[in-house]
Amino acid sequence: MRMVEIIEKKRDGCALDNDELKYFVGEYTRGSIPDYQAAALLMAIYLRGMDEEETSALALAMAHSGDVVDLSGIPGVKVDKHSTGGVGDKTTLVVAPIAASLGVPVAKMSGRGLGNTGGTVDKLESIPGYRTSLDREDFLNIVRSGGISIAGQSGNLAPADKKLYALRDMTGTVESIPLIAASIMSKKIAAGADAIVLDVKTGSGAFMKTLESARALAKTMVRIGEGAGKATVALLTNMNVPLGNTVGNSLEVVEAVETLRGRGPRELTGLCVELAANMLLMAGKGDLVACRKLAQGSISDGSAFAKLLEMTAAQGGDVSFLTQTQKFPRARVVEDVCAPSAGFITAMDCGQVGRASMALGAGRETKDGAVDHSAGIVLLRKTGERVEEGQPVARLHTSGGKKLEAARRIFLSSLTLGGSPPPPQPLIFDRVGKEHLKQY
Ligand code: URA
Repeated sequence: MRMVEIIEKKRDGCALDNDELKYFVGEYTRGSIPDYQAAALLMAIYLRGMDEEETSALALAMAHSGDVVDLSGIPGVKVDKHSTGGVGDKTTLVVAPIAASLGVPVAKMSGRGLGNTGGTVDKLESIPGYRTSLDREDFLNIVRSGGISIAGQSGNLAPADKKLYALRDMTGTVESIPLIAASIMSKKIAAGADAIVLDVKTGSGAFMKTLESARALAKTMVRIGEGAGKATVALLTNMNVPLGNTVGNSLEVVEAVETLRGRGPRELTGLCVELAANMLLMAGKGDLVACRKLAQGSISDGSAFAKLLEMTAAQGGDVSFLTQTQKFPRARVVEDVCAPSAGFITAMDCGQVGRASMALGAGRETKDGAVDHSAGIVLLRKTGERVEEGQPVARLHTSGGKKLEAARRIFLSSLTLGGSPPPPQPLIFDRVGKEHLKQY
């Protein structure tokens, strides 16, 4: 097989077959196909697209380019949850303990944040002592004994994705539905769960800016998951407004704790309950209505919060930071951003809010950059609310002055003020399951 012929075939708009995709993924991962040829193929895919069969074949080849986690030794239906990335998205910290407290084992490998979206691993590392780096045996033992572990990726999971994602980042080929779908699903399939709940974000803080593109991505991922023998469902959710009232690592952990204690913001709680209910549904715990009740019950009776404490202790974290959240160190500089004029907040560009948080030190610009766990933003007013001139809209947390000024400028640019309130927006636009694939 010759790589140049594969590139030419896709360049000319033809579909690649399974053998060609396996050859490309395998040889590129081994290093015998150079970056310039892989980049040419990625651009051809970006421009020409891929049909369902090709996309699934690519995802499976990428999933099998390295280790595939074997969770078969853990009894029960293992359900994974994945978000396509948003601003203020701390749902994993809430949803995974809810599911585990109701007997659904969660073996979750999470990522670090990059750019304006945060990563669960960074948030968890703001808890002193919490070990996100576990070897495979430790990780599985913690799931076996407590029913839940959230850790960083261990072993050699989907190495093809690691190489391809880095190349896409440098070649303007990230924003392609087949490439995003194959990238995400290759990691989910390699992570070994039996079922997958996807939270596909759409809006100003998401990869997918329109509902239509988010729906297409969701359908593509559901098809890949189902094709790989894993029950898969996707919720299409709103990322035109940051999720909850905090953006930044320890600030988000505190908000997740508040949510698990029944005191979280309404919309964050609502989304967490819906995601958890879908995980419970896939694990056979009842219909959606019953599963919502179970999820809500695990918050009100404290069992979900107890599960978070149990997991934190099992991974070496100091649980007193979760029971007394005032122990989290406060950033050295905390200052308000005030409304430049009176009016209703008609829009809050999530991408800009994420960039402001990054400027404060909460996110990383490069893969190996450090994050400041106490930096971030507390939103005091959100889209739809009225503000008076000079009234605080957000509280910025950072370690120093220069960062503050840059972040203040970026944050203010996220706001649009108007004379009347904007129409209310749904938090969850739709749910895509295998039953929706026929009309695709
Ligand atoms: N997240 C991923 O893991 N891969 C992509 O391609 C985009 C978002």
